[in-house]
Amino acid sequence: MTTHSHPGSLIVVHGSMFAGKTEYLIARLRQAALHGQRVKAFKHAIDNRYDPTHLVTHTQDRFDAIPVPDADAVLTQAGDAEVIAIDEGQFFRNELVPIVEKLLDRGVTVLVAGISHDAWGRPFEPMPRLIAMADEVVPRESPCRVCGEPSPYTQRMTPVNTLHMVGGLDDYEPRCRAHFTPLPGPPEKR
Ligand SMILES: [Zn+2]
Repeated sequence: MTTHSHPGSLIVVHGSMFAGKTEYLIARLRQAALHGQRVKAFKHAIDNRYDPTHLVTHTQDRFDAIPVPDADAVLTQAGDAEVIAIDEGQFFRNELVPIVEKLLDRGVTVLVAGISHDAWGRPFEPMPRLIAMADEVVPRESPCRVCGEPSPYTQRMTPVNTLHMVGGLDDYEPRCRAHFTPLPGPPEKR
């Protein structure tokens, strides 16, 4: 699939909310650590829903993570890590793309998890760009809360008052195409 010549490899985990993306990241990090690789996980500082210094799943499993204010900080704090995981990639916006490229050029294995569609149902950058660069794409979909079909969309259930899709169990639901209703009004300026 890949046409680039990076020595590292990029694994992108994408899908709706509550689809087990963070669980998948943690499993891959633990597996790499078991094989003696130096691993590091990053999360955006805006994502402080459960715990600012850990990746935390919706079932409360956790893994040490470094909170960073932007994508540049991932690069400056990457150190000698051989495997780097970045959770909620959509929070970093398109600035994440050149940072991932630099890590790949260094030979790092990069894992990025993120939401594939925003609350308007549009592709959620930078995930589509990262998918296009990826050596391995891992789609994760959780069952639609209405009908149980696989759901690529994430339905906003409460009023939007931030610029980001930061939310907990009550704010969003996974929905299939038939049961997804985009947020009303024009998309927020992002
Ligand atoms: Zn449905």
